[in-house]
Amino acid sequence: MKNKESIMEHNKEFVASRSYEPFAASVQPRRKLAILTCMDTRLTELLPAALGIKNGDANIIKIAGAIISDPFGVTMRSLLISVCMLGVREIIVIGHKDCGAQGINASIIKERMLSMGVSQERIDLVESSGIDLEGFFKGFEDTAESVRDTVKIIKMHPLLPECINVFGFVMDPHTGEIEEV
Ligand code: ZN
Repeated sequence: MKNKESIMEHNKEFVASRSYEPFAASVQPRRKLAILTCMDTRLTELLPAALGIKNGDANIIKIAGAIISDPFGVTMRSLLISVCMLGVREIIVIGHKDCGAQGINASIIKERMLSMGVSQERIDLVESSGIDLEGFFKGFEDTAESVRDTVKIIKMHPLLPECINVFGFVMDPHTGEIEEV
């Protein structure tokens, strides 16, 4: 609740002082670019700053680990919308070192759920109705390999036009340095 109140207070002031003016941008990404990256807090401002990306330049999609495991899930949907509706012609996947999605798996997450009051019966019910929690909560061991896998899923996607370039990088979450993989 504390966050909600301070956010609302800040927002009122932000709008009243017209602080939004420097952020004016078009809905079409100016650089025809989509970036798929991780939700890690350290990348929030570091990633755009380290890449020279400003408001209006790119569609930035942030998900845990920057992993696409389902070619017909919501992340691929966003990328296809970027390409077909918003003029994106280049997709960059950026994983990072020391990622919270590294080493996670369904058993660790299920244990946490149980300790937070989700019942075993509910977990069993979800699994017995055909939901593959192992796949749903799949993490990765090696960041570079995971980025390469996600790049491959995007590149090979049957609905992605061939003219779209797809690249992968690993970022250092402290310095912002990127390395192509
Ligand atoms: Zn991460």
